[in-house]
Amino acid sequence: MLRGKTALVTGSTSGIGLGVAQALARQGANLVLNGFGDVEEPKRLVAEAGKAFGISVSHHGADMSKPDQIADMMAFAAKGSGQVDILVNNAGIQHVAKIEDFPAEKWDAIIAINLTSAFHTTRLALPAMQAANWGRIINIASTHGLVASMQKSAYVAAKHGIVGFTKVAALENATTGVTVNAICPGWVLTPLVQKQIDERAAKDGKSADEAKRELLGEKQPSLQFTTPEELGELAVFLCSPAANNVRGVAWQVDGGWTAQ
Ligand code: NAD
Repeated sequence: MLRGKTALVTGSTSGIGLGVAQALARQGANLVLNGFGDVEEPKRLVAEAGKAFGISVSHHGADMSKPDQIADMMAFAAKGSGQVDILVNNAGIQHVAKIEDFPAEKWDAIIAINLTSAFHTTRLALPAMQAANWGRIINIASTHGLVASMQKSAYVAAKHGIVGFTKVAALENATTGVTVNAICPGWVLTPLVQKQIDERAAKDGKSADEAKRELLGEKQPSLQFTTPEELGELAVFLCSPAANNVRGVAWQVDGGWTAQ
């Protein structure tokens, strides 16, 4: 379905971004990965997912808090095909603390990586998408783009911000073939959440399993984690012709969290 398209997924060396990249690769898209840590294994997994199509897989290590590096990544991604057809703004970090204890530099980093980076990638990707009259922009927001939790002020502010940004971008392109949507996952068991589980277990003197059960029990009625694979399949749907008129949504995949 996506053969010949180029997809750029930010923060795709791990977790949800990697799951989305693999799902798009299975549809034949060429992938540009981004993110820190080991690059070879994610590249191998994505190439494997797109093996039937012989897709190309590359990586750019831009730091999403740095606008000049983002511009360099966008130019790099466009070099192979002339443009980015599918942009998935996924890179994100978390920090948990009360507002009065929240380090100002953590606030700035979360707003830069989780919100402002999507403005930069989007503004740079849009002209070519508009010229081609086809494009897909998918922002990985969160249930925290719709509701709040204590001790996550910067994250909740950034995720509410990206849901708002998604709506504006969708409206500005509503008469074109460029759609812009957000996905709002609840708990997904990735390194970002494992860190919160480990911190919680250490603080409360509980096992990781207990902390995991409590985490789900507080918020996610299904008591199950959403998986990166499930989110990848939703991204594939949003790239499909059936989703041509899905515009500006913030789609929960949260086991009922925001239905409460
Ligand atoms: P993760 O920690 O597994 O992956 C984060 C990715 O972002 C990694 O590839 C990392 O290298 C990259 N990254 C971090 N800082 C970066 C930077 N400055 N520049 C470039 N890349 C950077 O996390 P995840 O859970 O897969 O989260 C991915 C996205 O999904 C985030 O936006 C997160 O807020 C969102 N999300 C996660 C959950 C969850 O439960 N895990 C729920 C809702 C939303």
